[in-house]
Amino acid sequence: MERTYSACAFDIDGTLTVRGEEYIPAFLQDVMARSCMKIPMAVCTARNRSLAFEKIAAMFPHAADPTYCQINFVFICENGSIGFFYDATTKNYKEFYRVPYPYDERQRQLLFARLKNRLEGKLGDAFLNEISMGFRPLDFNDADHAAVAARSREVAEIIASELASNDPKRTLKIGDSGIGVNVYPADGDKVYGLKQFAAFLTKYRGINFSEKIQEIVVVGDQPQSGGNDDVFLNGEAGTPFTVGETNPDSLYPLPVFDKVGKILEGPEGTAFLLDNLKFKNI
Ligand SMILES: [Mg+2]
Repeated sequence: MERTYSACAFDIDGTLTVRGEEYIPAFLQDVMARSCMKIPMAVCTARNRSLAFEKIAAMFPHAADPTYCQINFVFICENGSIGFFYDATTKNYKEFYRVPYPYDERQRQLLFARLKNRLEGKLGDAFLNEISMGFRPLDFNDADHAAVAARSREVAEIIASELASNDPKRTLKIGDSGIGVNVYPADGDKVYGLKQFAAFLTKYRGINFSEKIQEIVVVGDQPQSGGNDDVFLNGEAGTPFTVGETNPDSLYPLPVFDKVGKILEGPEGTAFLLDNLKFKNI
């Protein structure tokens, strides 16, 4: 029997945007805004809230009821470490969970400074977020995506070697999105974020889920080992699809095929899923 789904969670870069491009294309904003009037949605991203909001905000006015659409759209940020929902009464975002960082704030800042130092000459940008920290390689907006990915990988490798001595118990994890690298608590990954999204929907919307929350469609583009969707798309939670890299050796994530069997990538694939999967009316 064809499965019906209750909610959707997306990665942003390469999934809602064309990889390396700044904005969500208008056709996908329309499809998302229409779907978000029917089902709850979330982004599950390495970005912090303001950088994630920057990408999504333009979509809300496309909806029949922009405020409802905004209420129905949850932000799981910093690779799953922290989540926010829109409170229409105060017109503000409110945090609904956060994973504690495993070291104290002074140590967190020290590690950030040390990593920036180690990466000198290789960084285009660095952020100390609420919980995680993010590092973008030099020229991260370069049109040569393979070159950006290689620089991002180099940044990830340097961070890994530094963490080997600074975090011997491996309480921190590294996620490489191909355009930047995040360091975040190991127990606060995107699957944890997805489970928190499901728990939020159960608590506030009365939506029930199976143990593996397969009623949530999960879409990302970096499922390869070490990619920032490797945990998100491995099938441990949700029903994962990829609109980017594939993982030929495992069942999940599922590639997206159009009606003539062509593989769809990026925003085209994401829009096709929203238009063609069967969603429960919630
Ligand atoms: Mg991505």
